[in-house]
Amino acid sequence: MPSVCLVIGMAGCGKTSLMQRVNAYLHSREAPPYVINLDPAVTNLPYDANVDIRDTVNYKAVMKEYNLGPNGAILTAANLFATRFDQVVNLCERRAKEIDHIFVDTPGQIEIFTWSASGAIVSETFASAFPTCILYVMDTVRSQDPQCFMSNMLQAVSILYKFRLPMVLVFNKIDVVRHETQAEWMTDFEKFHAVLDENPTFASDLSRSMSLVLDEFYKHLRVAGVSAMTGEGMEGLFEQIERSRKEYLAEYLPELNAKK
Ligand code: GDP
Ligand code: MG
Repeated sequence: MPSVCLVIGMAGCGKTSLMQRVNAYLHSREAPPYVINLDPAVTNLPYDANVDIRDTVNYKAVMKEYNLGPNGAILTAANLFATRFDQVVNLCERRAKEIDHIFVDTPGQIEIFTWSASGAIVSETFASAFPTCILYVMDTVRSQDPQCFMSNMLQAVSILYKFRLPMVLVFNKIDVVRHETQAEWMTDFEKFHAVLDENPTFASDLSRSMSLVLDEFYKHLRVAGVSAMTGEGMEGLFEQIERSRKEYLAEYLPELNAKK
């Protein structure tokens, strides 16, 4: 049975580039994944998607028809597509014997997926059919700034508790900046505090308090450092995906079955 990875992260963190990279990596290992694009507004998709939301809904037409701005139209397009998402999962089920991985690209703006009906429907439909995890992608270059790092952690924690699925924190762009320093901020809060002390502000006080609260959350996370550009870190990423699959089977599946 395939594992599903929902690729989520802030705009520009490299979700689509990572999709392209894992797709190429798995093709080279002769284990092609099933790939799904849920971003209605992407103009240039650098990988061949098995399912592409743009084949079903045209967000520019949605803009005209419902008199919406671009963000409203993207949100509406995603929600319209979600109403038929059981059909997408049926397609995946038909291929389940041949494929090991399903990867799902999400809209550039994170809120469109995480705070709409579409994200809930997509994640619940998948999670009730296959082992599912979230790849929370971070832009390691941007999150060198401790406050940007903290914003990402708060975003990730709210997603973890909303979706209730295993999560891998994927530090992307390690060809530009290595991720070890930031991974250390998660295990040793004194190191994080030391960086905040370099530039004390009200926001850094807030980040300091938050880091103490997030300690428990960090324990639930797996970490991988990758470069979608060079392909570094793919083995490590797939190890974490495999661990997430086991975590899903051991912890999430029994909870899901108990609810039925
Ligand atoms: P998305 O909005 O999350 O889908 O992000 P994209 O995949 O469109 O990437 C945003 C920008 O980051 C593009 O200019 C990419 O070329 C760049 N990018 C993505 N991954 C990497 C990486 O691993 N290293 C570097 N240096 N740039 C990257
Ligand atoms: Mg994208």
